[in-house]
Amino acid sequence: MNYQNIQLFVLIIPASLLLLGIAFIICQLILREQTFLAWVANGYILTALALAAQSLMSNQQLSHWAVITGTFYLFGIWSIAHGMALRKGSHAHPMMGVLIGLITLSLLFYFSWIAENLWLRIIILSLGMGAMQLLVAKHFLTQYPDGDMFDRALSIAYISIIIYTLVRPIVIFFFSSPDNFGELTKSNYWLLMLSASILLSLWLALVIFAITVRDIVLKLNDERYRDPLTHLLNRRGFFEEAKKLLGSHTDSYYFLLTCDIDHFKHVNDNWGHLAGDKVLQAVSKAIVKNVRKGDLVARFGGEEFVVFLRGMDIADARKIAERIREEIEQTTFNSISTRVTASFGLADIAASDDLVSAIGRADARLYNAKQNGRNQVCWNE
Ligand code: GH3
Ligand code: MG
Ligand code: MG
Repeated sequence: MNYQNIQLFVLIIPASLLLLGIAFIICQLILREQTFLAWVANGYILTALALAAQSLMSNQQLSHWAVITGTFYLFGIWSIAHGMALRKGSHAHPMMGVLIGLITLSLLFYFSWIAENLWLRIIILSLGMGAMQLLVAKHFLTQYPDGDMFDRALSIAYISIIIYTLVRPIVIFFFSSPDNFGELTKSNYWLLMLSASILLSLWLALVIFAITVRDIVLKLNDERYRDPLTHLLNRRGFFEEAKKLLGSHTDSYYFLLTCDIDHFKHVNDNWGHLAGDKVLQAVSKAIVKNVRKGDLVARFGGEEFVVFLRGMDIADARKIAERIREEIEQTTFNSISTRVTASFGLADIAASDDLVSAIGRADARLYNAKQNGRNQVCWNE
């Protein structure tokens, strides 16, 4: 490939980055809440603009504009890092970013206006960009407990980009010198490095798109299967999950516990609906705290909860119900000046198709608990 062709080929990279940036903006406009996409879009577009301008410049122009293109690169790379950190609930340390930016730009200024040296400028800029990326590297090196294959793919993509950014100046430093740097930029080796950079940017973009779609699906499922106030399963979610559990371990014993807050209307009437909501949240916490991981806790509506207990005998199931009852009874609230109690009905699940009738039996026992004076667990007729 001759030099003109290489220059044209190089323009494919900013054009692709620009398109990806535009695609991120469109995604962000559609999804609105995903602000991290706006930062990633900003990063891709700034990098694309700097790269396009740089690809078309002569060495003299490169020197003239080094600080401006450097600013675009550095802010672009920081934007992507910041976007990625935002998704993890963090940020890319803006003050550190400014510091790295100022140091890098000062050096770029020096080696373009005072002691012109393209070779050193490229090494310095790459190191500056690598340092920006390192600001968020810890998020991608530590495994998240709830991380799945998408999160792992994102970590691998981003860490690869950091390694690439940091290896590039090392390669330039050891395999070329200020005198023969022009030769390196015209070599197939350089072309290979550019190809690697576009492949990495594409890979990162694809993983980010995949993660965005995954996040939307998870959010929709969450809205479909969970109660927004307590974040417990709703009726639909409960039946889905309970059927799965019943289908997978047919030899275990299961119990159903239904729970209804006593005189809850009184709470609402005296301290308002908002205070009532706080009570509902506290009761749901008390239930979740006292069951085991893997048991199901659902809010079936109003002040009624249903718990699915796995693999235990009636004595254990009663103990759990009693623990929940006591915890609710002992909870104090700032928003209301009364204690809250709840009544419970406990029933075993006889056969795998018996979920609805088990709920019916537990409800009948809950009714008995109410009749017998409330604040108690009833487990037989
Ligand atoms: P009992 O001891 O017999 O169960 O009496 P209760 O007052 O708890 O039962 P009742 O069924 O008469 O009242 C339930 C109340 O729950 C009525 C309704 O206003 C309230 N409620 C239902 N959903 C919500 C909610 O999401 N938030 C709040 N704050 N109140 C709710
Ligand atoms: Mg009720
Ligand atoms: Mg009630």
